[in-house]
Amino acid sequence: MKTFLAILFIMLFPLSALAGETIRVLLKDDQQRLEVKVDGEVICYDGQGNLMEMHLDEAMLELETIDGALHINGIPVPRPPLKIKAIAGQMGVNGIRLQSELEIRKKPGGLVQAIALLDMEEYLKGVVPAEASPKWELEVLKAQAVAARTYALYKKKSQAGGDYDVTADVNSQVYSGNGLRSPISDRAVDETAGLVLTYDGKLINAMFHGCCGGETEDVGAVFGKPVEYLKSVEGMCPPHGSKMQWEKWFSASEIQDALERKGYRIGKVRDIRVAAQSDSDRVTRLVITHSKGELSMKGNDFRKAMGWEVVPSTRFAVKKTKGGRYRFEGKGSGHGVGLCQLGAREMGLQGKNFEEILLHYYTDVKIEPYRPDM
Ligand SMILES: [Zn+2]
Repeated sequence: MKTFLAILFIMLFPLSALAGETIRVLLKDDQQRLEVKVDGEVICYDGQGNLMEMHLDEAMLELETIDGALHINGIPVPRPPLKIKAIAGQMGVNGIRLQSELEIRKKPGGLVQAIALLDMEEYLKGVVPAEASPKWELEVLKAQAVAARTYALYKKKSQAGGDYDVTADVNSQVYSGNGLRSPISDRAVDETAGLVLTYDGKLINAMFHGCCGGETEDVGAVFGKPVEYLKSVEGMCPPHGSKMQWEKWFSASEIQDALERKGYRIGKVRDIRVAAQSDSDRVTRLVITHSKGELSMKGNDFRKAMGWEVVPSTRFAVKKTKGGRYRFEGKGSGHGVGLCQLGAREMGLQGKNFEEILLHYYTDVKIEPYRPDM
C-alpha cells in the first residue's frame, strides 16, 4: 500500500505543482470599441470585486470609453478594470472562444484592451494546437507543450509588474482559445503536466520558431545577448518544402515605404547589401544605400520593419536585378532561435520522444516538474 501511495504521489506531483497557476493573456489591444460575444451566462464585477447589478443576457457586450469612463452596453463602470466571468457557456473576443474570466482595461486616448485570465494548463491547451499541427506525432506535441509551458511561466515571471503576461499572437505564442483544441493536443498537455525546462535550476526562455532552414541560431546573433542554453545546433528539418526555401521580390519604393512607415529616415533605395552574417548564415547587418545616404540596420530590425511574414527569416541573400527590383532568396521561417518546429516534427517521425527533441534544441537543460522558486 505504501508503495502504491508513493507511486501515486509521484504521478500526481507534476499536476499539483501547477495547480492554481494562472496566466494573463492579452487578447485585443488599443480598441475604440470592443465586442464580447456571450454564448451562455456571465457576471460582471468592478475593480474592487463588487458585483455589478445588471442584466447580461444580451448576446453581445459592447465595451467603450465615453468621456474618459469605461462603459459596458452604455452603462458606466464605476471602478475599472471591469471583470466579466463566464459562469455558463463561452465568450468570444477577437475570434477567440473561451470559458474563463476577462478583464477589460481602459487605456489612454479612450482605448480599451481585453485580457483573459486563464488557468495555465487550460491556456496551454489553446496554444499547442495553434503552434503545432494536431496531425503531428504525440511526442512532438508534448515537446511543444513543455516549451510553451516554460515560455509562459518565464514570461509571467519577467512581466510580473505589467497588466498582462503574454499576448495571444506571434509576439508571444499563438493562443487560439477553444477553437482548435483536439484530443491529441489536450493529451500532450496532460501527459506533460507541470513539466518545464530549466538551466541551472531556473526556468529557461524557451524560444521556438517555425523552421530554422538548416541550423538553429545562437540567440546572441539575433538579440544581442548570448545565453548558454540557446546555441546554434543542427536543425534536423527536412531539406525541401515551402517553409524551407522562399523567394521574395520588392521594388525600391516598396522597401523605402515600409521603412519610412516604421520611422526610418531613408531616401530612394539605390542598393542593398549584406554587411555581416552570423555563423549560421543569417544576416546580422544590412546596409541600404539611398539617395540621402546610407542606412545600416540589424537583420532582425529589417525583418521587423518589413513585416515578420513579409521577410520570413534573416537567413537570406539579396540581389538587385536589372529591372531595379530586389530579389531576396531565403531559407526557413522565424528567428531561428531554440526549438525548430519542423525539425522537431522530423525528429518525431524518426521515433524520437519529447525529451530527446527538447534536449536536442536546448543545450544542457533539464526537464523537471515546476516549482515556484525556479
Ligand atoms: Zn530547422
